[in-house]
Amino acid sequence: NTLHDELIAAIRNIPDYPKPGIVFRDITTLLGNPRAFRRAVDELVHPYAGMGVGRVAGVEARGFILGGAMAHQLSCGFVPIRKKGKLPRETVRIAYSLEYGVDEMEVHKDALEPGDKVILVDDLIATGGTAVAAVNLLRQLGADIVAACFVIDLPDLGGRVKLEELGVEVRTLVAYE
Ligand code: 5GP
Repeated sequence: NTLHDELIAAIRNIPDYPKPGIVFRDITTLLGNPRAFRRAVDELVHPYAGMGVGRVAGVEARGFILGGAMAHQLSCGFVPIRKKGKLPRETVRIAYSLEYGVDEMEVHKDALEPGDKVILVDDLIATGGTAVAAVNLLRQLGADIVAACFVIDLPDLGGRVKLEELGVEVRTLVAYE
């Protein structure tokens, strides 16, 4: 079967979570499926092998799981983008909007050098609020963002287009309309 079908079968759909009318796309079942996990990671990174990518930057928390595996596959480093207050050294921080209210994410100032080629990863892109903030944060450190990668796209919510408008190449594996 195709990779697309295998990933769709491995992702669990949770109706009315976290609230009525929302279908949550649960990737824990994909992560727990040895073949689907490997195929997803391989598919996300394969265009970027041999391109001199220096770091994969993952968004807390599911972006850490995918990003660690992607960094291993690319033989590059990993940079965690964390919720505020978790990183011990000097950081740059950015506020971003959630559905209700705002939150802040941050990254260590010394995690990147200007010009480093970076791939951003998270499990899913919806409105793009999280990913746009992460791109702006990495660019504050001078990152050259090669691509932003997500297993799942919710295209109706417009996040992919927002990233593309920032000049970021977007790679996603499955979409739910
Ligand atoms: P956005 O900022 O693009 O609106 O939302 C994306 C963020 O919310 C990502 O960090 C993603 O992990 C999380 N998210 C929103 N909806 C879902 C969902 O249905 N499934 C999963 N796995 N994550 C979601």
